[in-house]
Amino acid sequence: MSNELKVRFWGVRGSYPTPGAGTVKYGGNTASVEICAGERTIILDAGTGIIPLGHELARSKRASEILLLFSHLHHDHTQGFPFFVPAYMPNSKLHIYGPDGTHESMKNVLEHNQSSETFPISLRDMSSSKDIQSVRESQVIVWDEAGVRVAESTVGLSDEAVVIRIHKSYAHPGGVFGYRITWCGQSIVYATDTEGYVGTDKRLVKFAKDADALIHDAQYLDEHYWGQLEGLPATQGYGHSTVTMACEVAASTHTGRLILFHHDPSYSDEILAGMERTAKSLFTDSVAAYEGLEFSLTPNPSPIGRREWKEVQYAQNGK
Ligand SMILES: [Zn+2]
Ligand SMILES: [Zn+2]
Repeated sequence: MSNELKVRFWGVRGSYPTPGAGTVKYGGNTASVEICAGERTIILDAGTGIIPLGHELARSKRASEILLLFSHLHHDHTQGFPFFVPAYMPNSKLHIYGPDGTHESMKNVLEHNQSSETFPISLRDMSSSKDIQSVRESQVIVWDEAGVRVAESTVGLSDEAVVIRIHKSYAHPGGVFGYRITWCGQSIVYATDTEGYVGTDKRLVKFAKDADALIHDAQYLDEHYWGQLEGLPATQGYGHSTVTMACEVAASTHTGRLILFHHDPSYSDEILAGMERTAKSLFTDSVAAYEGLEFSLTPNPSPIGRREWKEVQYAQNGK
């Protein structure tokens, strides 16, 4: 079995999809990220990026068992799910874990997203088998030889188990989960839809300490956040970060690489390229996520002790 930990971005935009000439380079689909731990497929969020991912999983016959984690249930993280092809495949098993909504269970929210008034096919009528569970911060999600499950601790797990820890953040309206996915000593942290705090988010810094890669919300230009852009209101308190905030967390955690994520839908490719340059000036190993960006980690420590990213597809995916 391959022991590469791979990450591929299928949707990198926040709020709503943005097709068009101005977003060709970074892409317009909303949040969805694929993580491959060897043969195991883990998906972070089901924005519209999960739609092409679903076609790819079906085409490559990798749809038999999939773990889908929701950071939270805002529509830019769930709106692709009704079009996720493996959910319609009778031989697919989906483990769907995430937080409850503010007033309803996660399962209820997903069912309401596909109520007959708003969508032709109900959640129940999608043919795959589905294990839908709300999880809590104190729990861990495990995928090992015995399958996928929610556990109360990591005691007794084998080295080859994929272990996913949960960070509950209050820095987004309604709350949001961050995830730390660890496998064979390598780890990736996913922290989208989170706003930075003065002096950095200390709980997040602790959670993400020494991760090999940190995928962090960086929705806003600093001037936008502070209300200094003509015609745009300040976005302080909206629950999203600036590039500066993302870089502060990356520097404090000593992460191997920072990936700027959840781009503002009003930002063009040109603006995002500028944000990436700003990020590099603050934290050298930064990249703005784009559709098709793919990295892999191998469990061979570099001479400086840091596991190194192997760039699989660092060019702009032919776009
Ligand atoms: Zn979002
Ligand atoms: Zn949100």
